[in-house]
Amino acid sequence: MGGPVTVVDLSPAADPAGVTRPDRLIDRFGRVHRDLRVSVTDRCSLRCSYCMPADGVPLAPADRLLTADEIVRLVGIATTLGITEVRLTGGEPLVRADLVEIVAGIAALPAAPHLALTTNGLGLDRLAGPLVSAGLERINVSLDTLDRAHFAQLTRRDCLDAVLGGLMAARLAGLAPIKLNAVLLPGVNDADAVELLDWAIDQGFELRFIEQMPLDGGHTWRRDHMVTAADILRRLGQAHRLSPLDGRGPAPAARWLVDDGPGVVGIIAAVTEPFCADCQRLRLTADGQLRNCLFAQAESDLRQRLRDGASDDDLAEVFCTAVGRKLAGHGIGEPGFAQPVRPMSAIGG
Ligand code: SAM
Repeated sequence: MGGPVTVVDLSPAADPAGVTRPDRLIDRFGRVHRDLRVSVTDRCSLRCSYCMPADGVPLAPADRLLTADEIVRLVGIATTLGITEVRLTGGEPLVRADLVEIVAGIAALPAAPHLALTTNGLGLDRLAGPLVSAGLERINVSLDTLDRAHFAQLTRRDCLDAVLGGLMAARLAGLAPIKLNAVLLPGVNDADAVELLDWAIDQGFELRFIEQMPLDGGHTWRRDHMVTAADILRRLGQAHRLSPLDGRGPAPAARWLVDDGPGVVGIIAAVTEPFCADCQRLRLTADGQLRNCLFAQAESDLRQRLRDGASDDDLAEVFCTAVGRKLAGHGIGEPGFAQPVRPMSAIGG
């Protein structure tokens, strides 16, 4: 799946402080894992139709969610294994009351990783400053359209202005670069793509379109009813000259220079052009399960082991074993592919 597996850079990971550490998270295909996505909650303030049904999805009981200290401990262990990039996500991370504490705890680790956040932007007007002071470096904000009616239809909440206010606060707080994530749905917001790109470039934000993936809580995804990377390129290409950029590395987005720059647009074509061969990501769910792929059917329970008194070495072994079991690709489109039981909001996007 995803074409031939290439061996990615095997040189030891240098953390942001310039300290070199062993790479212990190398899988059977030579992929070195440096990136940990940490979901801090499965709760969300929006109900995006490609993610959740209108009445939401079943939530984990609060006592199963990792505490701030547990998250920081697990991230600390991951950094000793070669993780250098951590992205906090959800659900919606900004609904977690102790998010600033989590950021500060991770930023204070001996080998602190680069620290990023993916958010829908609601509450960012209040939290952008404290998060930056605590050590947050980068941010991705999800914004699927600038059309108020389409935004309300898609997210089932009429709060476009609050998201835009959050984005401006993020910029004022010094977060850079600011990336925007957009999912296009046919007949809902696909016709808004060019306007969104023009606005993003004008504002100095980097927009990336994400192909809709089979991860929604309502299991409504259909391969023949999604906007593909080819559709997006065709639509943007009618308004702009797009020149492909090299040097993607392990990044999920392929990028194009727009009209000779400096504006850039990205497309994350996880369905039609999988990039599994270069994947270096692991995911920790809000209830403490380690996943080696968004689409994995199996998980490793770090929460129970941690609460049973496991040592750091024992927990590190769980990370290494999970990486060792990682499959070559996510398998979408292959016979036997099944959507994971957990929806995106309970995994962490
Ligand atoms: N609540 C935060 C947010 O909105 O960015 C973080 C979590 S959200 C699950 C992370 C990203 O996943 C968002 O950019 C969202 O658009 C994307 N996403 C959610 N469901 C998706 C799906 N079925 N296919 C593709 N992307 C999806």
